[in-house]
Amino acid sequence: MADDNFVDVFVVGGGVNGASVARDAVGRGYSVMLAEMNDLASGTSSAATKLVHGGLRYLEHYEFRLVHEALAEREVLWANAPHIIWPLRFVLPHHKGLRPAAILRAGLAMYDYMGGRRLLPPTKTLNLRTHETGKPLKGDYRTGFEYSDCWVDDARFVVLNARDAANRGADVRVRTKVTSVRRDGGQWAIEMRDAEGAVSQVRAGLIVNAAGPWVDSVINGVMGKNGRPNVRLVKGSHIVVHKLYEHDRCYIFQNADGRIIFAIPYEQDFTLIGTTDLDYHDDPKDVKISDAETDYLCSAASEYFARPVTREQIAWTYSGVRPLFDDGASAAQEATRDYVLKLDGSAAEGAAINVFGGKLTTSRRLAEAVVEKIEDVLGKKGPAWTKIAKLPGGEFEPLAFAAEVRRLAMDYGWLPQKFAHRLMRLYGTRARAILGQAGSLQDLGTHFGADLYAAEVDYLVANEWARTAQDVLWRRTKLGLRVGPAEVERLEGYLAEVRFA
Ligand code: FAD
Repeated sequence: MADDNFVDVFVVGGGVNGASVARDAVGRGYSVMLAEMNDLASGTSSAATKLVHGGLRYLEHYEFRLVHEALAEREVLWANAPHIIWPLRFVLPHHKGLRPAAILRAGLAMYDYMGGRRLLPPTKTLNLRTHETGKPLKGDYRTGFEYSDCWVDDARFVVLNARDAANRGADVRVRTKVTSVRRDGGQWAIEMRDAEGAVSQVRAGLIVNAAGPWVDSVINGVMGKNGRPNVRLVKGSHIVVHKLYEHDRCYIFQNADGRIIFAIPYEQDFTLIGTTDLDYHDDPKDVKISDAETDYLCSAASEYFARPVTREQIAWTYSGVRPLFDDGASAAQEATRDYVLKLDGSAAEGAAINVFGGKLTTSRRLAEAVVEKIEDVLGKKGPAWTKIAKLPGGEFEPLAFAAEVRRLAMDYGWLPQKFAHRLMRLYGTRARAILGQAGSLQDLGTHFGADLYAAEVDYLVANEWARTAQDVLWRRTKLGLRVGPAEVERLEGYLAEVRFA
């Protein structure tokens, strides 16, 4: 940064949109600071269904622009981060009482046609009476359609975007709340408060408000405006149950209410089921699943699975709030999933770009669109670059993941296969930075349960802004599913020691 107290672009919010904008902008040559009031991805961006998808259902709402852009992003993102993003096959069983088979076939043909596929396999029809994906289902389901989309580890996607932004020179501050933003002589004067209560100031040429569900409270509370609400908060919840079936395909189930839910193999031993779509009016930080949502998800899944899904099978739940642009749609599920960017002000007075809506899938394209607006205000610097730029750890070919796991397991002969697989999924080529010169599990330091050792925790603290056990166990990894309260406490103690060291 030329001037320690001035940046070209200041980003409010360390979710997927803020992190992607910071990365793109700094890579084009702007000086950038990002402030996140909690942990990176602690808002909506760790609570998604975690699909990189066109959104088959959005075709019914004529969201062709969004579906087209999103479908094309599947292979772009997979190529850039083949450790945390990978292809999935989805099985859509035909339900006699719901959408006719011809409509499903036509929708999927369009999905395939619009999709810009190179590596992802096309749609095919399945006989569920003979195919293995029919086995866990009730006998009524005879025909299914199998199609491709991708999976993303949402929280890691955010952290890797932030890491890449920081590697390129962005100043990323976590647990730093933006408390006040005022225009002053053609610039912005910004005030922040960190977790210890220390207040700091910075000046910026332009502000990007990527505060997700808090975008309106930043406009009104932090920037001191008095506008009408722009976002519609729509809650979505998921349940994680002990593994319901053995194969690796996902299901997309249609419900009688017109909605769909997914059942997805999750973290080897679990099945993820979601989501719901309910208007939400409370504080986004307090969002959690209700009894009615739990019942809805269990009963919607039980309509299809031969063995009913019950509350007793639930190992974990999570909920998030979609910050959708308020387009006046009457039902939550009909509100647009597309993003909307609004420019407020100009270079002369200080400009702000407010970001509404968006998806994990379209975050890279959203960032490009935001940076184009930044260029209009601050002047053009470098060209667009993120389409063919690897995220940290993703420096291998999309189809080479299994070979990379084998290579890691071979180079570290003492490393259990499952552990090698987990490290490669989370860190890709960076797994070697965690393992270093270790010659045994003991060399990885204190053991915190499951296959979590100090070497990984230290890496997360040093490289990925992890500060608490929650950060480590539920966002940088999902080992929270596998460790008990005593181990969490031990990890918390260790992290406190590291923090004060
Ligand atoms: P957030 O992730 O919420 O980030 C905003 C951040 O701003 C927060 O971390 C917050 O702490 C911070 N912040 C707020 N105020 C301040 C302040 N004053 N100072 C500093 N920081 C501040 N998309 C897909 O592509 N695929 C899916 O399968 C999918 N499934 C979904 C399922 C559900 C249930 C939900 C809720 C969403 C889903 N999405 C999906 C959409 C996607 O998750 C969101 O669009 C995306 O995560 C929004 O990111 P964001 O950066 O705008 O918001």
